[in-house]
Amino acid sequence: MTTNGNVSFWYAADGLPTPRPALAGDAEVDVVIVGAGYTGLWSAYYLAKADPTLRIAVLESRFAGFGASGRNGGWLANNITGGRDGYVKSHGRALVGDFQRMLNDTIDEVINVAAAEGIEAHIHKGGELLVARNQAQLGRLEAMAADQAAWPEDEAVRLSAEQTRARINVAGALGSIHIPHCARLDPARLVRGLAGAVERLGVQIYENTLVTEIHPGAKGASAYAVTERGIVRAGHVLRATEGFTANLASAHRDWLPMNSSMIVTTPLGEDTWEQLGWEGLETVEDFAHAYVYAQRTHDGRIAIGGRGVPYRYGSRTDMDGSTQPATVKALTEILHSMFPAADAARIDHAWSGVLGVPRDWRATVNYDRATGLGFAGGYVGTGVTATNLAGRTLADLVLGRVTAATAMPWVNRTVRRWEPEPLRWLAVKGMYGLYHRADAQEADGRMTTSPLARLANRISGR
Ligand SMILES: Cc1cc2nc3c(=O)[nH]c(=O)nc-3n(C[C@H](O)[C@H](O)[C@H](O)COP(=O)(O)OP(=O)(O)OC[C@H]3O[C@@H](n4cnc5c(N)ncnc54)[C@H](O)[C@@H]3O)c2cc1C
Repeated sequence: MTTNGNVSFWYAADGLPTPRPALAGDAEVDVVIVGAGYTGLWSAYYLAKADPTLRIAVLESRFAGFGASGRNGGWLANNITGGRDGYVKSHGRALVGDFQRMLNDTIDEVINVAAAEGIEAHIHKGGELLVARNQAQLGRLEAMAADQAAWPEDEAVRLSAEQTRARINVAGALGSIHIPHCARLDPARLVRGLAGAVERLGVQIYENTLVTEIHPGAKGASAYAVTERGIVRAGHVLRATEGFTANLASAHRDWLPMNSSMIVTTPLGEDTWEQLGWEGLETVEDFAHAYVYAQRTHDGRIAIGGRGVPYRYGSRTDMDGSTQPATVKALTEILHSMFPAADAARIDHAWSGVLGVPRDWRATVNYDRATGLGFAGGYVGTGVTATNLAGRTLADLVLGRVTAATAMPWVNRTVRRWEPEPLRWLAVKGMYGLYHRADAQEADGRMTTSPLARLANRISGR
């Protein structure tokens, strides 16, 4: 393997960005945003567009795109994080249908803004292909297809084994579901381009500026963010720190930092692509419990990801994305098993990143006018699209606008916190151990979903 870590493969061609200046002392602005990933930058983008007079500062501990936004699998997908069923129970079918359509439209919003701002993120909307590779997975596929019959918003199409292989030659494919609402992209190109776009709108991004505390405002006093380089006061302070949120003492048990790891091959030859097909550039996922996601990159590689070591004791987060050899080996085996035509390809790069997992596995957008504090996140592994809607929603909430977005069911929710250690570590380790064993049983010929996976689902609290 050529590179392990160094943030991610997505920076390999263009190099890590030259750092922007850090904060140089105390300051006062209208809006402070903590974290320059998609959530923070989309919030800044829509605020600055809506009111060009606003003074907006983004405080970033490393550089814009250092987190999951510069490391992800590049699936611009239409998922409602945590699924639709819970929201149907709490808010009713009609509103969840609106939410789903809004997420579908958000994919096009990202594509349109990227085009308008001259961001070349190699976006291609080819949909997503969810493939069943054994009988137990096929059972889950059928259950999903039955559920989707009640959700025409997805426009999902059930494909036979033959139709699946006609799109992509996934070994052992027994059938698939194609959902047109998904695009593949280069995530770092998107976040880097977005940072440039918000700067052009007058937003100040301060890099290498770690926020250590966030304090609410009260009558007559502004909210403020404390950094190692000064205090920034503002009418509104928005936290957009996702998988790193546990590092802030006030939010340590809010979202569990979960690791996701990826590998990418060297560019594959024309003959290999002829065997694989994949001309529609769909994103690909299977129905395993410790699931796997893949894309065909713009430069003809396969990038594939899944859970490595899912969680570090005490909610520690990684720094540079370096990935354990056992995880690289496991992902390489999955790559070869799904795409044997790519057997000869070398693994060029491996990396990991952290995502935020709330106790109920559902994302939240919150804003409290009384304190001036807001936040968005907890997207689990589905934030590339959701961050755009979250950013637009935070902007509306800050500006006091009542819109269709502010009526969505993920706005202003209260979620219970994770258990203290060692329970947190034991639960996640146990859960993923069970998922891996369940996947192995099913790959060995078990016809139905393993009870181990059902047990893991109960532990997860989803
Ligand atoms: C390997 C991997 C694959 C993924 N694949 C997909 C996918 O294909 N599709 C999908 O939809 N989602 C995917 N995700 C999830 C998706 O990337 C995230 O949901 C999304 O990027 C979250 O954006 P964010 O801005 O909220 O967080 P981040 O991008 O993590 O940004 C948070 C930023 O805050 C900064 N920060 C943190 N703490 C502080 C502090 N105290 N002070 C100052 N700055 C701070 C960080 O340095 C970081 O830049 C994946 C995630 C990973 C890790």
